[in-house]
Amino acid sequence: MIKKLLDKIFRPKHAKLEHHQAATARAPQNQPHKPILRAKSSNTKPRHKSVDFMQHGALCIAHKVHKIDRNLLSNAALKTTEGLHKAGFDAYIVGGAVRDLLLQHTPKDFDVVTDATPEEVNRIFRRSRLIGKRFRLVHVLFGDETIEVSTFRGSHLEADGDSKVSDSGRIIRDNVFGSIVEDALRRDFTANALYYDPASQDVLDFHNGYADIKAGILRMIGKPEIRYAEDPVRMLRAVRLSAKLGLKIDPNTQAPIAKMADLLQDVPASRLFDEMLKLFLSGHAMQSVMALRAQHLHHGLLPMLDVVLEQPMGERFVMLALQNTDSRILSGKSANPSFLFATLLWHEMLAAWEGYKKQGHHAIPALHMAMTEVIATQAEKLAIHNRYSATMKEIWGLQPRFEQRAGKRPFGLLTHPRYRAGYDFLLLRCESGELPMELGAWWTAFAEADGETRAGMLQADTSPKKRRRKPHKKPSSVETV
Ligand code: ATP
Ligand code: MG
Repeated sequence: MIKKLLDKIFRPKHAKLEHHQAATARAPQNQPHKPILRAKSSNTKPRHKSVDFMQHGALCIAHKVHKIDRNLLSNAALKTTEGLHKAGFDAYIVGGAVRDLLLQHTPKDFDVVTDATPEEVNRIFRRSRLIGKRFRLVHVLFGDETIEVSTFRGSHLEADGDSKVSDSGRIIRDNVFGSIVEDALRRDFTANALYYDPASQDVLDFHNGYADIKAGILRMIGKPEIRYAEDPVRMLRAVRLSAKLGLKIDPNTQAPIAKMADLLQDVPASRLFDEMLKLFLSGHAMQSVMALRAQHLHHGLLPMLDVVLEQPMGERFVMLALQNTDSRILSGKSANPSFLFATLLWHEMLAAWEGYKKQGHHAIPALHMAMTEVIATQAEKLAIHNRYSATMKEIWGLQPRFEQRAGKRPFGLLTHPRYRAGYDFLLLRCESGELPMELGAWWTAFAEADGETRAGMLQADTSPKKRRRKPHKKPSSVETV
């Protein structure tokens, strides 16, 4: 009864957002919308620091409009928001998950945002840990799922907060807490600034993200030039998210990218690596790389792509590899980042290998020198983690062995723990025209054949026989006594 009364007072009929209004609503960029007034849902405890809907003026999109299916939300995310609500805090699912659900995509992960500080969150959840330097966050663990909980961020321009900005405007550290309004303003794209409250099932929309999503637009919040200067990785995010979600980058968001691409040079290599990994494993790697190229973002960022994509054989090989990864991911299979990076760097590797051989080194030592050189050069721009580079070297190291089809060697190769990855890599080399298709077909048949057939498939051993040295006779213990 009381709730109904409150609803009547605070949410007059004309203020309710109907579907077509939400889809077409468009306010001038960064101008708060006319507020939709609503009472806080009465089924949750009064919150510690309540959101003032009258002041922040977000669109409040009701469930009957956005129709996000609650069953598609992760249980861990729901438990996290419930735990925070019970402790008297505000808590929303935010960012990519809300955006993806509205676009009928399956969210990759669920992020929660709250007005509780990281320490408060850490105290509420027994299985949680504080992480991060650049952004202090809490990881809340439920089974094998981890929910990332962040505290509303404030403006990094506030003098008294714990924030740091470089001369070029790049935000280096950023731990200023703020309100939900400030938090929304700090997010990158309008589609990423949607806050879903699992208790009321309302979505709060501060920057017209809902309408942009429905119109298929990816739009930067605020002035794009300033936002890219603050964090150049946003340029890569624009390309990746538009390719992944089929959203068109808004012309104003797009325009400054070409002239600001060089700012990526200042971004720490490990951060670039993480972002590129997301891009390559998005299921839309091929499209993303083509878009990066079209916008000249690949120059300097991926030294291997600069060179490789400019030669037809290299381009064909990389595109095949990306296509292959995309179809694996889209069909629910896993894709190994080491394999992908091994393909991206392969033609660079071939050139370096050739160089060492020309200098007079034997093939195998030359291969090892080339592997070390290529990975070291790459690491300056994109720090490939050691665990990946070790596997990459194994995949590359196996390649010359696939060309040996005589004697016992092919049998040994079949039992190698990296055989499968090495074989897949070989097939790509064949398909790209680098090696005859017949070689790949031979290995396919050899692996499937029975013992007798295999023996019949072997080629004549023409390699010079290694002379076995007679083992030195160990002096017998009797003699030494
Ligand atoms: P994905 O599908 O790859 O997870 P995402 O948008 O969820 O995409 P996350 O890296 O998980 O990407 O980030 C979660 C949210 O944090 C984003 O939706 C956005 O609101 C905000 N965010 C992430 N990176 C930035 C950034 N560089 N600048 C501003 N806001 C960001
Ligand atoms: Mg995400």
